Amino acid sequence: MAEIGHDIELAAEILRNGGVVAIPTETVYGLAANALNTDAVAKIYEIKQRPSFNPLILHLANAAQMQRFAKDIPHGAKILAETFWPGPITLVLPKQAIVPDLTTAGHSSVALRVPNHPVTLQLLELLDFPLAAPSANPSGYISPTKAEHVQENLGDKISYILDGGPCKIGLESTIVSFVDKQAEILRFGAITQEQISNYIDIIRTPTIAPFENIIAPGMLSSHYAPKTTLIFGEITLESGVRNSPNNVLLNFQNYKIFVPEATQFILSKSGNLEEAAKNLFEMLRKIDSMEVDKIFAEPAPSFGIGLAINDRLRRASINVNNENKFGN
Ligand code: AMP
Ligand code: MG
Repeated sequence: MAEIGHDIELAAEILRNGGVVAIPTETVYGLAANALNTDAVAKIYEIKQRPSFNPLILHLANAAQMQRFAKDIPHGAKILAETFWPGPITLVLPKQAIVPDLTTAGHSSVALRVPNHPVTLQLLELLDFPLAAPSANPSGYISPTKAEHVQENLGDKISYILDGGPCKIGLESTIVSFVDKQAEILRFGAITQEQISNYIDIIRTPTIAPFENIIAPGMLSSHYAPKTTLIFGEITLESGVRNSPNNVLLNFQNYKIFVPEATQFILSKSGNLEEAAKNLFEMLRKIDSMEVDKIFAEPAPSFGIGLAINDRLRRASINVNNENKFGN
């Protein structure tokens, strides 16, 4: 079992010694190590069983540190950093040589973010290196939004979990790439396309529209996935929800009249997208621990952070036995 505590100085000490610590952020809990130390970074990949071709995000104390790790930074990237950091947006930029290839999984670009959590910002201030920190879960499983979730999944593999309370946002950061100079959204998150477009032009967004199942299954990455089979789409009687009394529904706002309420979960009774995002992973974990037959999850309204919710549900619906599994 890992120790769960509030000792920032102890966390800093473990990290300075090349160790790994779970840290709180506003998005999800991260599994952190010195991003410039390849031995430390290797431990992250090992503990998570993360494929070595899947790059890590560097967490910085402030935007001024950007130039140490990235070069040829376009004006648009600086604007997003100034506007949204600290906050749930990650910028992908050409990397400086100081960043090891292991950290970026061989890419010539690096992903940077300043997280918006007081505990982790204090920790970063104590350190003279950035933290590589993917979500603190076994690769492919549901991301943790509480210290206890990390304990459940990785408690036997790490010594310390820095507790910062439940994550305020509950979904991973928006990722914007500038490697082709202009902004391209690689992953939907809490900072929405609409918010970004208020400041800069976006040339591309993720090509697979949320909740469109038009792509061959093998082409998609399984991720954020419960062990239980999850079926993503509009929930109707024809969906097969009544085929087993052990099926569970994960609705956005309202109960369905054709199934008992006791077998239904609601992401936000007031229909609030932020609340739904915050509840998503915790409810998936809860349902996954109940040993149900199937989870039927319906899409959230597809705007704002609803796009990120639907992206995560879509990936959670991909069969975990799929051979093309690219979890992180
Ligand atoms: P996370 O799963 O939240 O730790 O975010 C890691 C994800 O960030 C990766 O799976 C990639 O999608 C993205 N990412 C990180 N570094 C890069 C990079 N250099 N180029 C493109 N995408 C990156
Ligand atoms: Mg992850």
